[in-house]
Amino acid sequence: MPSLYRTPVSALTGVGKKRAELFEKLGVSSVGELINYYPRSYEDWSAVTAIADIQEEGTYCIRATVGTAVSNAVLYGGRILSRTTVYDDSGTLKLVFFNNRYISQMLAYGAEYFFFGKITIDTHGSQMVAPTFAPVSAGTRIHPIYRQTAGLSSNIIASAVQKALDMLPETIGDPLPELIRRKYGLCGLRQALCDIHSPKNTEALEAARRRLVTEELVVLNLGMRSIREHSRTLSGARIGRDFSAEFETLLPFLLTNAQKRAIADCVRDMTEKPSQMNRLVQGDVGSGKTAVAASVCYTVIQNGFQAAFMAPTEILAAQHFETFQKLLEGTGVSVALLTGSMKESEKKRVRKGLEDGSVQLVIGTHALITDKTAFHALGLAVTDEQHRFGVAQRAKLLSKGDNPHLLVMSATPIPRTLGLIIFGDLDISVIDELPPNRKPVRTVMLPGSQRGRIYRFIREEVGKGRQAYIVCPLVEEGELTGVASAEEYAAELMLKHFPDIPVGIVHGKLKPAEKEAVMDGFAKNEYKILVATTVIEVGVDVPNASVMMIENAERFGLSQLHQLRGRVGRGEAQSFCVLISDNGGAVTRRRLEVMCSTNDGFRIADEDLKMRGPGDFFGERQHGLPQLAIADFAETKSLELSQKIADDIMMIYHDLRNDELRLLNAEIDRLFDRGGHNTMN
Ligand code: ADP
Ligand code: MG
Repeated sequence: MPSLYRTPVSALTGVGKKRAELFEKLGVSSVGELINYYPRSYEDWSAVTAIADIQEEGTYCIRATVGTAVSNAVLYGGRILSRTTVYDDSGTLKLVFFNNRYISQMLAYGAEYFFFGKITIDTHGSQMVAPTFAPVSAGTRIHPIYRQTAGLSSNIIASAVQKALDMLPETIGDPLPELIRRKYGLCGLRQALCDIHSPKNTEALEAARRRLVTEELVVLNLGMRSIREHSRTLSGARIGRDFSAEFETLLPFLLTNAQKRAIADCVRDMTEKPSQMNRLVQGDVGSGKTAVAASVCYTVIQNGFQAAFMAPTEILAAQHFETFQKLLEGTGVSVALLTGSMKESEKKRVRKGLEDGSVQLVIGTHALITDKTAFHALGLAVTDEQHRFGVAQRAKLLSKGDNPHLLVMSATPIPRTLGLIIFGDLDISVIDELPPNRKPVRTVMLPGSQRGRIYRFIREEVGKGRQAYIVCPLVEEGELTGVASAEEYAAELMLKHFPDIPVGIVHGKLKPAEKEAVMDGFAKNEYKILVATTVIEVGVDVPNASVMMIENAERFGLSQLHQLRGRVGRGEAQSFCVLISDNGGAVTRRRLEVMCSTNDGFRIADEDLKMRGPGDFFGERQHGLPQLAIADFAETKSLELSQKIADDIMMIYHDLRNDELRLLNAEIDRLFDRGGHNTMN
C-alpha cells in the first residue's frame, strides 16, 4: 500500500494527463489516494423492477436491453437531448439524457444494462430521466456514487477506482494490529477497501464502513494524544508563586467556586508540573471566563513574564482591554492593546514595548501572531473564544515565546465524546456555575406581526434605565429581497418607533474605529438601543442590557442564537430574548422551541448537532482538526469505540514508536499532513 501513494494516478490505464489534472482537483494525485477516495453515497441496484411493474413515479432500477440507436437533438440554448428506448421481458421504456454527447457511444445498441434513475409519468407515458447505468457484466449491485467534478463523472471515477484496486497486492499490511481487529470484530483492510467501493451487499458495505471509520477515528485519536505527549515534554515558563488571592482583591465581585477551581487548576499546572500548561477552560456564555484568564495572567506577570491575550474580533479585544485596564489600575502592571486597525505608529510603539518587556500584558487580535510581533519573555498565551481559532493559530501564538503556558477559553459547548478528541491535546476545566443572582433569560418566539408590541416593550425597559440589542442577520443592502439591511432597518426604527431614544448601529461594513466608537457609546449607556449584525455575537459584555430581539431568527444556528442570547442576562435584572420568525416550517419551529425551553448551552449544542450535523455545527471547520475521509464527528458510538481501541493500543504496545505500529504511525502522519489543521483559517 505505501508504494501506491507514490504511484501517480496517471499510471492507471484510461487516466491521461488531462484526467490526472481533474483528479488533482478532487485532492487525488496518487493511486493510494484514489483508493482512499470513498464514495459519497450508494444507489441500491439490488432490487430490479420489471418495466411493466412501474406504475408510479419514483426511483427504480431496471435491467434492460437497448432497443433503438441513441438519437441526439439540440435544444434551444444549445442543450443536447439524447433519447433511446429499452426493453425487458415485460415491456419497453423511454430513457432521456441531457447534455451528454457521449451517451450514443456509451450505450451499445442491443446490449443489456442496469439502469438506475427517476421515473416521471406524464400524458406521453413513463420515462426514466438521466439514469446512471452499468453493463450487466459489471454485476455491481450496490452502486457507488462519487463526488465528481466537471469532466470527471462518478462513473469514470468508479472505473478508475476498480483499476486501482486491481493494483492492490494480495496481502497488504494493515495499520490496525490483528489482535485489535479480532477483539473488535473488524475486517481486514484489503477487504474493507474492496467492499467500500463495490460491496456485494449491504452487510459487506456496513462491515467495510465500520472498519474504515473506526480506523480513521483511532488514527485521529492517537494523533491528538501524541501532540499532547509532545507538549508534555516541553517545560514552560517557571512560575514560582501564586498571586491569585491577591488578584481577587482587585475584583469588584467574589469569584464563584467554579471560577476558583479553574484558576487553581491553572496555577497548579504552572507551578507544580514540570511541563508547560495546556488547558482549556470551558464555560457557558456569561460564566465569567474573563476573570479566570485575568487572574492567571496576573500570576504569570507577577512572576516576571509577559502575557498575551488573543481575541477573535476587534470589538472584543477593545472591550477586554478596557476591562483589564480598569482592573489592573494601581497595580503597576502595564497593559496595551494591539489590533490590525490601529495606526502604524501606535502598533510600532506597542510592539517595541513587547520587545523590550515594558508592556507586560497585551490584548489583541490576529495582529499578535503576525511576524512583526515579538516578545521579550512571553510566559502565557491565552486565546478567547477558541472555536474561532484553528489549532495552527494557537501554535503560532505559542511560538512567540520559549514554550509559554497555554490557556484556551471556549464557550462552545461540545458533546463530551467529541470534546475528548477535539481538545484531546488539552486538559480541561469546566466552569459549571453562573455568577450569583443571575436570572435565566426568558425567551419567546413571535411572528413579525408582533413587532409593534416588542418595540413598546423595549421602550418600557429603556424607561427603567435598561438597554436593548436588536440583531438582524444582514449587512449589505438588498442582499436578500424582503429582508431589510441593518442600516435601513435602523433608519426606520429611529424615525418611526424611537425618534426620542438614541439608537446606535454596528455592522461588518463599518471601519473598526467606527464600530468601536458605537460599541463604546453603548457600553457607556449613551445609546439605549443597539441595532447590530452578528458582529456582537462573541463575548461582548454590557450587563445593563436586558432585551435581545433577533430578527429572522430562523437564519441562525442554535449555537449561534445561544451565543447571541448570552449578551443579555449578564446583570441582575430579568432579561428577555425575543426570536422573530415568520418562517412557519415545522423544523424551524422545533429548533426555535429548543431555544425557548432551555438556557443550557450543552443541551442546545446537542440538539444543534443532531439537527444540523457536524458540518454546519462547526461552521467553516472551526474545530481546526484534520479533514476526515470517511468518519463523521456526529457518530458518537464510533467515537467512543475509537477511544476504547486507542486506549487498548497504548496499553498493549505502550509506545506509538513500537515497530508493530509502524503502519498505524504512517497513517497518523498522513492524516495530520493532509492540510487543513495547519492552514490558517
Ligand atoms: P464569559 O464567560 O461569557 O466570557 P464574562 O467573563 O464576560 O463571561 O463575564 C460575564 C459577566 O459576569 C461580566 O460582566 C463579569 O464582570 C461578570 N462576572 C464574572 N464573574 C462574576 C462573579 N463571580 N460574580 C459576579 N459577576 C461576575
Ligand atoms: Mg468571554
